[in-house]
Amino acid sequence: MYTIAKRFAFSASHTIGGVPPEHPYARLHGHNYEVEVILQSASLDAIGFVRDYGELSDLKGFLDTTVDHRHLNDVLGHDQTTAEVILARSGGHPRCGDARHVGGVPTMTELVRISEIFGPTIQGEGPLIGRPTVFVRTAGCDYRCEWCDTLYAVLPEYRDEWVLMTPPQIMTRVNELAKDRPVLVSLSGGNPALHPLAPLIALGRRNAHSFALETQGSVSQA
Ligand code: SF4
Repeated sequence: MYTIAKRFAFSASHTIGGVPPEHPYARLHGHNYEVEVILQSASLDAIGFVRDYGELSDLKGFLDTTVDHRHLNDVLGHDQTTAEVILARSGGHPRCGDARHVGGVPTMTELVRISEIFGPTIQGEGPLIGRPTVFVRTAGCDYRCEWCDTLYAVLPEYRDEWVLMTPPQIMTRVNELAKDRPVLVSLSGGNPALHPLAPLIALGRRNAHSFALETQGSVSQA
């Protein structure tokens, strides 16, 4: 599998609706954002590309002209402007929809950023305590708890240790560790709910695995 990635940056202001008026996020403020486009292909084209990077120039143009140095509440047309909602809803925004398909490249909605996969080991906490478990630890978290014991799966400075994996790649590793026997798979983190988990869980269930999710609950998935 070949993977290429390119990052784009933009700056924008926003306010977040629904928070109390005295909350700092209710006041006008700004951030520097990064958009990372990741493309994978099992084969290269005749020239040797996964995709010509130049084909992503339309996305850069969209960000430069529509988002950069603008007010996100105006761009999106609503005030639910948390990073989580922007990401979850970008597929429903027509201009973002165009950008997602720039150059005819399909969206990469199933990739999961992984910190580590290990086991089987014995689940040591919660209602499933004592069950043999393979842990799939996703990378990235929207919290920064001072008591966190898995900062290597939270802080961006560990980014180089994380890998993007497709559901089949993850399941291949789980099956290797479980020796092709059904096992409990614990999706942990970081915050695994930040990732698109439905394709992975569907694939795992077809392999007769069962799943548990360890999250602090800040993000829901339908
Ligand atoms: S929510 Fe969990 S993974 Fe995230 S920083 Fe807090 S303890 Fe760590």
